[in-house]
Amino acid sequence: MTDDLKPWGPEEKEAWYKRQKIQRSYQDDVVTRLKALPEDQFKLETYGALSHDPARYPLYRVMTQPWNDENPTVIVTGGMHGYEDSGVTGALRFMEEEAPKYAGKVNFVIYPCISPFAYEINHRWTRYADDPNRHCSDEGTAEESVLLMKSVKSLKMHFNAAVDLHETNYRDIDLTAERRARDGQKLQPGDDYIPEGFYLVVPSKADVPLAHEVIEEVRKVTPICADASILGYPADRGVIVLDDLKTLCQDFVRKYADAGMTTEIYPDKCSRDECERAQIATIKAAVKWVLGR
Ligand SMILES: [Zn+2]
Repeated sequence: MTDDLKPWGPEEKEAWYKRQKIQRSYQDDVVTRLKALPEDQFKLETYGALSHDPARYPLYRVMTQPWNDENPTVIVTGGMHGYEDSGVTGALRFMEEEAPKYAGKVNFVIYPCISPFAYEINHRWTRYADDPNRHCSDEGTAEESVLLMKSVKSLKMHFNAAVDLHETNYRDIDLTAERRARDGQKLQPGDDYIPEGFYLVVPSKADVPLAHEVIEEVRKVTPICADASILGYPADRGVIVLDDLKTLCQDFVRKYADAGMTTEIYPDKCSRDECERAQIATIKAAVKWVLGR
């Protein structure tokens, strides 16, 4: 069976791409909502487009208005994993319902859907079978990650906090198996473990105290994962420190931020509304911390 354990080459990756089906419309679900944001409150800009279909996949960054350099700035990233719905819809809803309340007090930079092709095929990977959340480093080649990093760097800003919006759900069992196949690896013990409840991943031990403040706010909205270990990392009341990969969005953005965190919403046992409210509660708790310092 060792023949089965060969990493995919370009042919297998292309075959994977051919198996994917467009399941929803980035234009209808995301771009239309972005374009409906009031212009006096949100500056909408593109920072490139996916080169395999630039007309279909322009990439958007939003900056809240009025912008004031004297105010704290928070960066929010969503849709790094396109199938993690509330990462995208939570970011959109935060802009529609909450961001205007902070006008004149906090600036927000928001990337609501970093991986729009993955959003449409309802998957984790890019057109080329890459996980963009393993490409946020100088060695990264996934276009979604490279363009995001270029855009963030071009802002030449320091952020007071950074929030990356994700989900963990039962599909991850299948997607992990697919990743093992792509990389020519056997399934590992723990590949079928899915944490029940919300948890936060932080890029540095220094972010743990803030993460606990955030968790206590999110707990009012959705249950928190109580496991002592999450994905092989020791967990303390729903918080894990993931500082060994260095290729995650949170690792890249943290270089420009005082604090960082990645949400992991557990959507299989709660409604879409609850998932979105948990994403929003995280952003608001981070902002509360920023304003209270
Ligand atoms: Zn994710």
